[in-house]
Amino acid sequence: MKVSELPYSRVTLEEVTSVMEDVIARVKNAQNADEILAAREDYLRLMTKFQTNTALSYMRYTINTVDEFYKAENDYYDEIGPAAQNYNVQLASALLDSPFRAELEEKLSPVLFRSLEVERKAMSPEIVEDMIEENKLVREYSDLMSGLEFSFRGETMPRALLMKYAKDDDRDTRRECYEVLGRGLEEHQAELDSIYDRMVHVRDRMAKKMGYKNYIELGYYRMGRLCYDQEKVRVFRENILNDVVPVVARLRSENAKRLGVTDYKLYDDGVIIPGGDPKPFGKEEIFAAAKEMYHAMGPETTAFIDMMLENEAFDVDSRKNKWGGGYCTEFFAFKQPFILANFNGTAGDVDVVTHEAGHALNAFLIADNRFALELGCGGMETAETHSMSMEFFAWPYMEKFFGDKAAQYKYMHALESFSFLPYGTMVDAFQHIVYENPDMTPAERDAAWLELEKKFRPHISMEGIPYLEKGTRWQYQMHIYEMPFYYIDYCLAQTAAFCFLMASLEDYDDAFARYLRLSRQGGEKVWTDLLEEAGFPSPFTPGALKTLAERVEDLLNKIRQ
Ligand SMILES: [Zn+2]
Repeated sequence: MKVSELPYSRVTLEEVTSVMEDVIARVKNAQNADEILAAREDYLRLMTKFQTNTALSYMRYTINTVDEFYKAENDYYDEIGPAAQNYNVQLASALLDSPFRAELEEKLSPVLFRSLEVERKAMSPEIVEDMIEENKLVREYSDLMSGLEFSFRGETMPRALLMKYAKDDDRDTRRECYEVLGRGLEEHQAELDSIYDRMVHVRDRMAKKMGYKNYIELGYYRMGRLCYDQEKVRVFRENILNDVVPVVARLRSENAKRLGVTDYKLYDDGVIIPGGDPKPFGKEEIFAAAKEMYHAMGPETTAFIDMMLENEAFDVDSRKNKWGGGYCTEFFAFKQPFILANFNGTAGDVDVVTHEAGHALNAFLIADNRFALELGCGGMETAETHSMSMEFFAWPYMEKFFGDKAAQYKYMHALESFSFLPYGTMVDAFQHIVYENPDMTPAERDAAWLELEKKFRPHISMEGIPYLEKGTRWQYQMHIYEMPFYYIDYCLAQTAAFCFLMASLEDYDDAFARYLRLSRQGGEKVWTDLLEEAGFPSPFTPGALKTLAERVEDLLNKIRQ
Protein backbone atom coordinates (compact mmCIF):
# COMPACT_ATOMS: atom_id res chain seq x y z
CA MET A 1 0.00 0.00 0.00
CA LYS A 2 1.19 3.54 -0.74
CA VAL A 3 2.29 5.44 2.35
CA SER A 4 -0.24 8.18 1.60
CA GLU A 5 -3.04 5.62 1.80
CA LEU A 6 -2.12 4.02 5.13
CA PRO A 7 -5.11 4.28 7.48
CA TYR A 8 -4.78 6.32 10.66
CA SER A 9 -6.81 6.25 13.89
CA ARG A 10 -6.11 7.92 17.25
CA VAL A 11 -5.02 5.74 20.16
CA THR A 12 -6.54 7.39 23.22
CA LEU A 13 -5.13 7.59 26.72
CA GLU A 14 -8.27 5.75 27.88
CA GLU A 15 -7.40 2.80 25.64
CA VAL A 16 -3.76 2.82 26.77
CA THR A 17 -4.83 2.99 30.41
CA SER A 18 -7.35 0.18 30.14
CA VAL A 19 -5.01 -2.22 28.31
CA MET A 20 -1.93 -1.38 30.38
CA GLU A 21 -3.67 -1.64 33.75
CA ASP A 22 -5.05 -5.02 32.75
CA VAL A 23 -1.67 -6.25 31.43
CA ILE A 24 0.27 -5.03 34.48
CA ALA A 25 -2.23 -6.67 36.87
CA ARG A 26 -2.03 -9.96 34.96
CA VAL A 27 1.78 -9.92 35.06
CA LYS A 28 1.76 -9.19 38.80
CA ASN A 29 -0.85 -11.84 39.65
CA ALA A 30 0.35 -14.54 37.25
CA GLN A 31 0.51 -18.11 38.53
CA ASN A 32 3.01 -19.14 35.86
CA ALA A 33 5.22 -17.73 33.09
CA ASP A 34 2.71 -18.61 30.34
CA GLU A 35 0.13 -16.26 31.82
CA ILE A 36 2.69 -13.48 31.61
CA LEU A 37 3.53 -14.35 28.01
CA ALA A 38 -0.18 -14.21 27.15
CA ALA A 39 -0.51 -10.77 28.79
CA ARG A 40 2.56 -9.66 26.84
CA GLU A 41 0.76 -10.46 23.56
CA ASP A 42 -1.94 -7.91 24.46
CA TYR A 43 0.76 -5.40 25.33
CA LEU A 44 2.47 -5.93 21.96
CA ARG A 45 -0.82 -5.45 20.11
CA LEU A 46 -1.38 -2.14 21.87
CA MET A 47 2.20 -1.00 21.30
CA THR A 48 2.05 -1.87 17.60
CA LYS A 49 -1.07 0.24 17.26
CA PHE A 50 0.38 3.07 19.35
CA GLN A 51 3.73 3.16 17.51
CA THR A 52 2.09 3.00 14.08
CA ASN A 53 -0.43 5.75 14.70
CA THR A 54 1.88 8.13 16.53
CA ALA A 55 4.44 7.74 13.73
CA LEU A 56 1.77 8.27 11.05
CA SER A 57 0.46 11.39 12.74
CA TYR A 58 3.98 12.79 13.14
CA MET A 59 4.83 12.07 9.49
CA ARG A 60 1.64 13.67 8.20
CA TYR A 61 2.24 16.72 10.37
CA THR A 62 5.81 17.13 9.11
CA ILE A 63 4.89 16.83 5.43
CA ASN A 64 2.30 19.61 5.95
CA THR A 65 2.78 21.57 9.15
CA VAL A 66 -0.40 23.59 8.60
CA ASP A 67 -2.60 20.46 8.57
CA GLU A 68 -4.81 21.23 11.59
CA PHE A 69 -5.97 17.65 12.03
CA TYR A 70 -2.55 16.01 12.33
CA LYS A 71 -1.17 18.98 14.26
CA ALA A 72 -3.85 18.38 16.90
CA GLU A 73 -3.22 14.61 16.87
CA ASN A 74 0.45 15.24 17.39
CA ASP A 75 -0.20 17.61 20.29
CA TYR A 76 -2.42 14.96 21.82
CA TYR A 77 0.38 12.34 21.77
CA ASP A 78 2.83 14.87 23.21
CA GLU A 79 0.42 15.42 26.05
CA ILE A 80 -0.23 11.77 26.87
CA GLY A 81 3.41 10.73 26.25
CA PRO A 82 4.65 10.89 29.87
CA ALA A 83 1.60 8.97 31.16
CA ALA A 84 2.07 6.25 28.52
CA GLN A 85 5.77 6.06 29.33
CA ASN A 86 4.93 5.67 32.99
CA TYR A 87 2.82 2.58 32.23
CA ASN A 88 5.76 1.13 30.32
CA VAL A 89 8.01 1.57 33.33
CA GLN A 90 5.41 -0.03 35.60
CA LEU A 91 5.23 -3.01 33.24
CA ALA A 92 9.02 -3.22 33.11
CA SER A 93 9.09 -3.29 36.90
CA ALA A 94 6.45 -5.98 37.11
CA LEU A 95 8.42 -8.17 34.66
CA LEU A 96 11.74 -7.56 36.40
CA ASP A 97 10.32 -8.36 39.83
CA SER A 98 8.33 -11.38 38.68
CA PRO A 99 9.07 -14.67 40.47
CA PHE A 100 9.12 -16.21 36.96
CA ARG A 101 11.84 -13.88 35.69
CA ALA A 102 14.47 -16.56 35.09
CA GLU A 103 12.03 -18.61 33.03
CA LEU A 104 10.91 -15.51 31.14
CA GLU A 105 14.48 -14.48 30.33
CA GLU A 106 15.04 -17.90 28.86
CA LYS A 107 11.80 -17.92 26.86
CA LEU A 108 12.23 -14.33 25.72
CA SER A 109 15.68 -12.72 25.64
CA PRO A 110 18.24 -11.71 28.25
CA VAL A 111 18.98 -8.54 26.24
CA LEU A 112 15.29 -7.64 26.54
CA PHE A 113 15.54 -7.86 30.32
CA ARG A 114 18.70 -5.77 30.36
CA SER A 115 16.88 -3.12 28.41
CA LEU A 116 13.92 -3.26 30.83
CA GLU A 117 16.32 -2.79 33.71
CA VAL A 118 17.84 0.27 32.07
CA GLU A 119 14.35 1.61 31.32
CA ARG A 120 13.46 1.32 34.99
CA LYS A 121 16.66 3.05 36.08
CA ALA A 122 15.96 5.91 33.67
CA MET A 123 12.57 6.92 34.94
CA SER A 124 10.65 7.46 38.13
CA PRO A 125 7.27 9.07 38.86
CA GLU A 126 9.05 11.59 41.12
CA ILE A 127 10.80 13.19 38.13
CA VAL A 128 7.74 13.60 35.89
CA GLU A 129 7.36 17.29 36.82
CA ASP A 130 11.06 17.87 36.08
CA MET A 131 10.71 16.11 32.74
CA ILE A 132 7.88 18.45 31.82
CA GLU A 133 10.06 21.41 32.80
CA GLU A 134 12.93 19.98 30.77
CA ASN A 135 10.66 19.65 27.72
CA LYS A 136 9.62 23.27 28.10
CA LEU A 137 13.25 24.37 28.16
CA VAL A 138 13.99 22.30 25.06
CA ARG A 139 11.08 24.03 23.34
CA GLU A 140 12.37 27.42 24.53
CA TYR A 141 15.81 26.70 23.02
CA SER A 142 14.51 25.36 19.73
CA ASP A 143 12.08 28.30 19.37
CA LEU A 144 14.91 30.72 20.06
CA MET A 145 17.25 29.06 17.55
CA SER A 146 14.67 28.66 14.78
CA GLY A 147 13.53 32.26 15.27
CA LEU A 148 17.04 33.73 14.96
CA GLU A 149 17.57 35.95 11.96
CA PHE A 150 20.90 37.02 10.59
CA SER A 151 21.63 39.93 8.33
CA PHE A 152 24.19 38.93 5.70
CA ARG A 153 25.17 41.32 2.91
CA GLY A 154 21.88 43.18 3.10
CA GLU A 155 19.71 40.09 3.29
CA THR A 156 17.94 38.69 6.34
CA MET A 157 18.01 34.92 6.72
CA PRO A 158 17.69 32.07 9.25
CA ARG A 159 20.81 30.26 10.44
CA ALA A 160 20.35 27.29 8.08
CA LEU A 161 20.56 29.59 5.07
CA LEU A 162 23.39 31.65 6.51
CA MET A 163 25.49 28.52 7.02
CA LYS A 164 25.48 27.81 3.29
CA TYR A 165 28.10 30.57 3.11
CA ALA A 166 30.24 28.66 5.60
CA LYS A 167 31.00 26.32 2.69
CA ASP A 168 31.65 29.05 0.13
CA ASP A 169 34.79 28.73 -1.97
CA ASP A 170 35.68 32.37 -1.23
CA ARG A 171 37.44 32.76 2.11
CA ASP A 172 36.24 36.31 2.79
CA THR A 173 32.66 35.16 2.34
CA ARG A 174 33.18 32.36 4.85
CA ARG A 175 34.82 34.71 7.35
CA GLU A 176 32.00 37.19 7.03
CA CYS A 177 29.46 34.39 7.49
CA TYR A 178 31.05 33.42 10.82
CA GLU A 179 31.31 37.04 11.93
CA VAL A 180 27.60 37.49 11.28
CA LEU A 181 26.89 34.21 13.07
CA GLY A 182 28.97 35.16 16.12
CA ARG A 183 27.51 38.63 16.45
CA GLY A 184 23.96 37.30 16.00
CA LEU A 185 24.42 34.72 18.74
CA GLU A 186 26.03 37.27 21.01
CA GLU A 187 22.85 39.32 20.97
CA HIS A 188 21.16 36.35 22.65
CA GLN A 189 23.99 35.38 24.96
CA ALA A 190 21.95 35.95 28.13
CA GLU A 191 19.13 33.69 26.94
CA LEU A 192 21.45 31.01 25.59
CA ASP A 193 23.33 30.87 28.88
CA SER A 194 20.21 31.02 31.01
CA ILE A 195 18.36 28.25 29.16
CA TYR A 196 21.36 25.93 29.41
CA ASP A 197 21.94 26.75 33.05
CA ARG A 198 18.33 25.91 33.90
CA MET A 199 18.55 22.70 31.86
CA VAL A 200 21.68 21.56 33.64
CA HIS A 201 20.08 22.21 37.01
CA VAL A 202 16.79 20.51 36.26
CA ARG A 203 18.67 17.45 35.01
CA ASP A 204 20.94 17.46 38.02
CA ARG A 205 17.87 17.64 40.26
CA MET A 206 16.24 14.66 38.52
CA ALA A 207 19.37 12.60 39.00
CA LYS A 208 19.67 13.48 42.68
CA LYS A 209 15.98 12.71 43.35
CA MET A 210 16.62 9.26 41.91
CA GLY A 211 19.68 8.74 44.11
CA TYR A 212 22.40 9.27 41.50
CA LYS A 213 25.51 11.33 42.19
CA ASN A 214 24.93 13.58 39.21
CA TYR A 215 23.18 13.58 35.85
CA ILE A 216 25.81 11.57 33.98
CA GLU A 217 24.68 8.18 35.26
CA LEU A 218 21.01 8.97 34.68
CA GLY A 219 21.85 10.41 31.26
CA TYR A 220 23.45 7.11 30.22
CA TYR A 221 20.37 5.17 31.35
CA ARG A 222 18.11 7.58 29.52
CA MET A 223 20.11 6.85 26.38
CA GLY A 224 19.28 3.16 26.94
CA ARG A 225 22.94 2.10 26.90
CA LEU A 226 23.39 -1.63 27.35
CA CYS A 227 27.04 -2.34 26.66
CA TYR A 228 29.19 0.59 27.71
CA ASP A 229 29.52 2.86 30.69
CA GLN A 230 31.32 6.08 31.60
CA GLU A 231 34.67 4.36 32.02
CA LYS A 232 34.51 2.74 28.58
CA VAL A 233 33.53 6.02 26.96
CA ARG A 234 36.42 7.71 28.76
CA VAL A 235 38.81 5.18 27.16
CA PHE A 236 37.20 5.82 23.79
CA ARG A 237 37.77 9.57 24.17
CA GLU A 238 41.41 8.88 25.05
CA ASN A 239 41.72 6.71 21.94
CA ILE A 240 40.38 9.54 19.80
CA LEU A 241 42.70 12.03 21.43
CA ASN A 242 45.81 9.87 21.11
CA ASP A 243 45.33 8.27 17.72
CA VAL A 244 42.75 10.16 15.69
CA VAL A 245 43.37 13.82 16.60
CA PRO A 246 46.97 13.93 15.24
CA VAL A 247 45.89 12.24 11.99
CA VAL A 248 42.99 14.64 11.46
CA ALA A 249 45.22 17.63 12.26
CA ARG A 250 47.78 16.43 9.65
CA LEU A 251 45.17 15.68 7.00
CA ARG A 252 43.30 18.94 7.45
CA SER A 253 46.47 21.03 7.51
CA GLU A 254 47.65 19.28 4.35
CA ASN A 255 44.29 19.95 2.74
CA ALA A 256 44.36 23.59 3.86
CA LYS A 257 47.53 24.13 1.81
CA ARG A 258 45.63 23.18 -1.32
CA LEU A 259 42.98 25.72 -0.38
CA GLY A 260 45.71 28.34 -0.05
CA VAL A 261 45.15 28.66 3.69
CA THR A 262 48.15 28.96 6.01
CA ASP A 263 46.37 30.15 9.18
CA TYR A 264 43.57 27.60 9.56
CA LYS A 265 40.45 29.15 11.10
CA LEU A 266 37.10 27.79 12.14
CA TYR A 267 35.65 29.25 8.94
CA ASP A 268 37.98 27.11 6.83
CA ASP A 269 36.62 23.89 8.28
CA GLY A 270 33.58 23.64 6.02
CA VAL A 271 35.44 23.33 2.72
CA ILE A 272 37.47 20.43 1.39
CA ILE A 273 37.80 20.65 -2.38
CA PRO A 274 39.49 23.66 -3.97
CA GLY A 275 37.01 25.30 -6.31
CA GLY A 276 33.98 24.04 -4.39
CA ASP A 277 32.60 20.75 -3.16
CA PRO A 278 31.15 18.34 -5.77
CA LYS A 279 27.44 18.49 -6.42
CA PRO A 280 25.37 15.46 -7.42
CA PHE A 281 22.96 15.12 -10.34
CA GLY A 282 19.29 16.00 -9.80
CA LYS A 283 16.53 14.09 -8.04
CA GLU A 284 15.49 11.85 -10.96
CA GLU A 285 19.07 10.72 -11.53
CA ILE A 286 19.67 10.18 -7.80
CA PHE A 287 16.68 7.87 -7.48
CA ALA A 288 17.51 6.02 -10.70
CA ALA A 289 21.07 5.57 -9.42
CA ALA A 290 19.86 4.41 -5.99
CA LYS A 291 17.62 1.82 -7.62
CA GLU A 292 20.46 0.50 -9.77
CA MET A 293 22.80 0.45 -6.77
CA TYR A 294 20.49 -1.49 -4.46
CA HIS A 295 19.69 -3.93 -7.27
CA ALA A 296 23.40 -4.53 -7.82
CA MET A 297 23.99 -5.11 -4.10
CA GLY A 298 21.83 -8.22 -3.91
CA PRO A 299 18.34 -9.72 -3.59
CA GLU A 300 17.47 -8.29 -0.14
CA THR A 301 18.39 -4.73 -1.05
CA THR A 302 16.55 -5.17 -4.38
CA ALA A 303 13.35 -6.16 -2.57
CA PHE A 304 13.89 -3.26 -0.19
CA ILE A 305 14.29 -0.47 -2.74
CA ASP A 306 11.50 -1.79 -4.97
CA MET A 307 9.12 -1.80 -2.00
CA MET A 308 10.16 1.74 -0.97
CA LEU A 309 9.66 3.14 -4.47
CA GLU A 310 6.45 1.22 -5.13
CA ASN A 311 4.91 2.49 -1.86
CA GLU A 312 6.17 6.05 -2.38
CA ALA A 313 8.03 5.98 0.91
CA PHE A 314 10.29 8.96 0.13
CA ASP A 315 9.24 12.59 0.47
CA VAL A 316 12.30 14.63 -0.54
CA ASP A 317 11.04 17.82 -2.24
CA SER A 318 11.51 21.08 -0.37
CA ARG A 319 8.24 22.99 -0.29
CA LYS A 320 6.32 25.51 1.74
CA ASN A 321 4.85 24.23 4.99
CA LYS A 322 7.02 21.16 5.03
CA TRP A 323 9.21 20.62 8.07
CA GLY A 324 12.80 21.55 7.19
CA GLY A 325 14.74 18.61 8.63
CA GLY A 326 15.09 15.00 7.64
CA TYR A 327 14.44 11.63 9.25
CA CYS A 328 13.72 7.96 8.70
CA THR A 329 10.79 6.42 10.55
CA GLU A 330 8.58 3.36 10.18
CA PHE A 331 4.95 2.38 10.55
CA PHE A 332 5.25 -0.82 12.43
CA ALA A 333 1.88 -2.44 11.75
CA PHE A 334 2.48 -2.08 8.02
CA LYS A 335 6.20 -2.98 8.10
CA GLN A 336 6.73 0.24 6.21
CA PRO A 337 9.78 2.49 6.59
CA PHE A 338 9.49 6.10 5.46
CA ILE A 339 12.08 8.80 4.70
CA LEU A 340 11.58 12.55 4.80
CA ALA A 341 14.20 14.95 3.47
CA ASN A 342 14.56 18.32 1.79
CA PHE A 343 16.72 18.09 -1.34
CA ASN A 344 18.85 21.20 -1.87
CA GLY A 345 21.26 20.23 -4.65
CA THR A 346 24.23 19.38 -2.39
CA ALA A 347 25.96 16.09 -1.63
CA GLY A 348 23.54 15.86 1.32
CA ASP A 349 20.87 14.77 -1.17
CA VAL A 350 22.80 11.57 -1.82
CA ASP A 351 22.91 10.85 1.94
CA VAL A 352 19.15 10.44 1.78
CA VAL A 353 19.44 7.33 -0.39
CA THR A 354 22.54 6.03 1.42
CA HIS A 355 22.48 7.10 5.09
CA GLU A 356 18.71 7.36 5.62
CA ALA A 357 18.14 4.34 3.41
CA GLY A 358 20.61 2.42 5.62
CA HIS A 359 18.21 3.04 8.52
CA ALA A 360 15.21 2.10 6.39
CA LEU A 361 16.89 -1.07 5.12
CA ASN A 362 17.47 -2.10 8.72
CA ALA A 363 13.76 -1.58 9.54
CA PHE A 364 12.93 -3.70 6.48
CA LEU A 365 15.36 -6.46 7.47
CA ILE A 366 14.17 -6.72 11.09
CA ALA A 367 10.42 -6.28 10.47
CA ASP A 368 9.70 -9.90 11.40
CA ASN A 369 12.16 -10.18 14.28
CA ARG A 370 10.57 -11.38 17.49
CA PHE A 371 11.62 -8.38 19.56
CA ALA A 372 11.61 -5.77 16.82
CA LEU A 373 9.02 -3.65 18.59
CA GLU A 374 10.76 -3.60 21.96
CA LEU A 375 14.44 -3.68 21.01
CA GLY A 376 14.11 -2.07 17.60
CA CYS A 377 17.30 -1.42 15.71
CA GLY A 378 19.29 -1.36 18.98
CA GLY A 379 20.89 1.68 20.62
CA MET A 380 21.62 4.88 18.71
CA GLU A 381 25.21 3.73 18.15
CA THR A 382 23.90 0.59 16.45
CA ALA A 383 21.35 2.50 14.38
CA GLU A 384 24.02 4.91 13.16
CA THR A 385 26.31 1.98 12.36
CA HIS A 386 23.62 0.77 9.93
CA SER A 387 23.35 4.16 8.23
CA MET A 388 26.94 5.44 8.26
CA SER A 389 28.29 2.12 6.96
CA MET A 390 25.81 2.18 4.09
CA GLU A 391 27.26 5.56 3.06
CA PHE A 392 30.57 3.75 2.52
CA PHE A 393 29.09 0.66 0.87
CA ALA A 394 27.67 3.08 -1.72
CA TRP A 395 31.20 4.15 -2.78
CA PRO A 396 31.59 1.85 -5.81
CA TYR A 397 28.42 3.40 -7.24
CA MET A 398 29.30 7.06 -6.80
CA GLU A 399 29.85 7.71 -10.55
CA LYS A 400 26.12 7.21 -10.96
CA PHE A 401 25.49 10.07 -8.51
CA PHE A 402 28.39 12.45 -9.21
CA GLY A 403 29.71 11.58 -12.67
CA ASP A 404 33.37 12.58 -13.02
CA LYS A 405 33.25 14.23 -9.57
CA ALA A 406 32.89 10.85 -7.83
CA ALA A 407 36.52 10.71 -6.72
CA GLN A 408 36.23 14.19 -5.24
CA TYR A 409 33.12 13.13 -3.39
CA LYS A 410 34.80 10.06 -1.87
CA TYR A 411 37.75 12.11 -0.65
CA MET A 412 35.48 14.78 0.81
CA HIS A 413 33.17 12.20 2.41
CA ALA A 414 35.96 10.26 4.09
CA LEU A 415 37.84 13.35 5.26
CA GLU A 416 34.71 15.03 6.66
CA SER A 417 33.60 11.82 8.36
CA PHE A 418 37.01 11.24 9.93
CA SER A 419 37.28 14.88 11.02
CA PHE A 420 33.96 14.51 12.75
CA LEU A 421 35.46 12.13 15.32
CA PRO A 422 37.47 14.73 17.29
CA TYR A 423 34.62 17.21 17.15
CA GLY A 424 31.95 14.77 18.29
CA THR A 425 34.17 13.43 21.05
CA MET A 426 34.85 16.96 22.26
CA VAL A 427 31.09 17.56 22.51
CA ASP A 428 30.88 14.47 24.73
CA ALA A 429 33.85 15.50 26.89
CA PHE A 430 32.27 18.94 27.37
CA GLN A 431 29.04 17.44 28.64
CA HIS A 432 30.85 15.24 31.15
CA ILE A 433 32.59 18.32 32.55
CA VAL A 434 29.34 20.30 32.69
CA TYR A 435 27.23 17.65 34.44
CA GLU A 436 30.01 16.75 36.86
CA ASN A 437 30.12 20.43 37.84
CA PRO A 438 26.54 21.65 37.53
CA ASP A 439 27.29 24.94 39.28
CA MET A 440 29.86 26.17 36.76
CA THR A 441 29.24 29.72 35.59
CA PRO A 442 28.60 30.38 31.91
CA ALA A 443 32.10 31.86 31.60
CA GLU A 444 33.61 28.72 33.14
CA ARG A 445 31.70 26.56 30.65
CA ASP A 446 33.04 28.60 27.73
CA ALA A 447 36.57 28.36 29.12
CA ALA A 448 36.18 24.57 29.38
CA TRP A 449 35.08 24.45 25.74
CA LEU A 450 38.08 26.48 24.62
CA GLU A 451 40.42 24.12 26.49
CA LEU A 452 38.83 21.16 24.71
CA GLU A 453 39.13 22.88 21.33
CA LYS A 454 42.88 23.17 21.87
CA LYS A 455 43.15 19.48 22.73
CA PHE A 456 40.80 18.00 20.16
CA ARG A 457 41.16 20.43 17.24
CA PRO A 458 44.65 21.87 17.65
CA HIS A 459 44.79 22.78 13.95
CA ILE A 460 41.82 25.17 14.16
CA SER A 461 41.95 28.71 15.52
CA MET A 462 38.92 30.77 16.48
CA GLU A 463 40.84 33.95 17.06
CA GLY A 464 39.24 37.06 15.68
CA ILE A 465 35.80 35.55 15.21
CA PRO A 466 33.39 37.63 17.28
CA TYR A 467 31.78 35.81 20.23
CA LEU A 468 32.86 32.32 19.06
CA GLU A 469 36.45 33.08 20.03
CA LYS A 470 35.23 33.18 23.64
CA GLY A 471 34.45 29.45 23.51
CA THR A 472 30.74 29.57 22.68
CA ARG A 473 30.73 27.29 19.62
CA TRP A 474 28.77 24.72 21.67
CA GLN A 475 25.73 26.99 21.90
CA TYR A 476 24.55 26.13 18.41
CA GLN A 477 25.18 22.41 18.77
CA MET A 478 21.54 21.50 19.32
CA HIS A 479 22.27 18.10 20.93
CA ILE A 480 24.10 19.71 23.84
CA TYR A 481 20.88 21.43 24.85
CA GLU A 482 18.26 19.00 23.66
CA MET A 483 19.72 15.50 23.90
CA PRO A 484 22.48 15.26 26.49
CA PHE A 485 25.07 12.52 25.94
CA TYR A 486 23.59 11.61 22.56
CA TYR A 487 26.57 12.79 20.54
CA ILE A 488 29.16 10.13 21.28
CA ASP A 489 26.92 7.54 19.60
CA TYR A 490 27.70 9.12 16.23
CA CYS A 491 31.42 8.84 16.93
CA LEU A 492 31.20 5.21 18.00
CA ALA A 493 29.19 4.39 14.90
CA GLN A 494 31.59 6.33 12.68
CA THR A 495 34.53 4.18 13.82
CA ALA A 496 32.51 1.05 13.00
CA ALA A 497 31.58 2.49 9.61
CA PHE A 498 35.28 3.10 8.85
CA CYS A 499 36.01 -0.52 9.79
CA PHE A 500 33.40 -1.56 7.23
CA LEU A 501 34.91 0.81 4.64
CA MET A 502 38.39 -0.66 5.08
CA ALA A 503 36.98 -4.21 4.97
CA SER A 504 34.96 -3.41 1.84
CA LEU A 505 38.04 -2.09 0.04
CA GLU A 506 39.68 -5.47 0.64
CA ASP A 507 36.72 -7.77 -0.05
CA TYR A 508 33.47 -5.96 -0.76
CA ASP A 509 31.16 -8.97 -0.90
CA ASP A 510 32.45 -10.41 2.35
CA ALA A 511 32.21 -7.04 4.12
CA PHE A 512 28.69 -6.47 2.82
CA ALA A 513 27.58 -9.92 3.98
CA ARG A 514 28.94 -9.11 7.45
CA TYR A 515 27.09 -5.80 7.36
CA LEU A 516 23.78 -7.41 6.44
CA ARG A 517 24.25 -9.96 9.20
CA LEU A 518 24.85 -7.18 11.73
CA SER A 519 21.86 -5.16 10.54
CA ARG A 520 19.51 -8.14 10.43
CA GLN A 521 19.91 -8.78 14.17
CA GLY A 522 18.55 -5.39 15.12
CA GLY A 523 18.70 -4.81 18.88
CA GLU A 524 18.75 -8.47 19.85
CA LYS A 525 22.50 -8.36 20.32
CA VAL A 526 24.34 -5.48 21.94
CA TRP A 527 26.61 -3.31 19.80
CA THR A 528 29.94 -4.56 21.15
CA ASP A 529 28.90 -8.18 20.50
CA LEU A 530 27.76 -7.27 16.99
CA LEU A 531 31.13 -5.67 16.27
CA GLU A 532 32.99 -8.70 17.55
CA GLU A 533 30.87 -10.96 15.39
CA ALA A 534 31.62 -8.72 12.38
CA GLY A 535 35.32 -9.20 13.12
CA PHE A 536 36.14 -5.70 14.41
CA PRO A 537 37.89 -4.76 17.66
CA SER A 538 35.98 -2.95 20.39
CA PRO A 539 36.80 0.79 20.26
CA PHE A 540 36.68 0.78 24.06
CA THR A 541 40.01 -0.99 24.53
CA PRO A 542 43.08 1.25 24.88
CA GLY A 543 44.82 1.81 21.55
CA ALA A 544 41.98 0.20 19.60
CA LEU A 545 41.83 2.98 16.99
CA LYS A 546 45.54 3.25 16.23
CA THR A 547 45.66 0.87 13.27
CA LEU A 548 42.38 2.13 11.87
CA ALA A 549 43.59 5.74 12.01
CA GLU A 550 46.82 4.82 10.20
CA ARG A 551 44.92 3.01 7.48
CA VAL A 552 42.48 5.88 7.03
CA GLU A 553 45.38 8.34 6.79
CA ASP A 554 47.02 6.18 4.12
CA LEU A 555 43.79 5.92 2.20
CA LEU A 556 43.13 9.66 2.31
CA ASN A 557 46.66 10.44 1.17
CA LYS A 558 46.14 8.06 -1.73
CA ILE A 559 42.76 9.34 -2.86
CA ARG A 560 43.41 13.07 -2.26
CA GLN A 561 41.76 15.12 -5.01
ZN1 LIG B 1 21.19 8.51 11.05
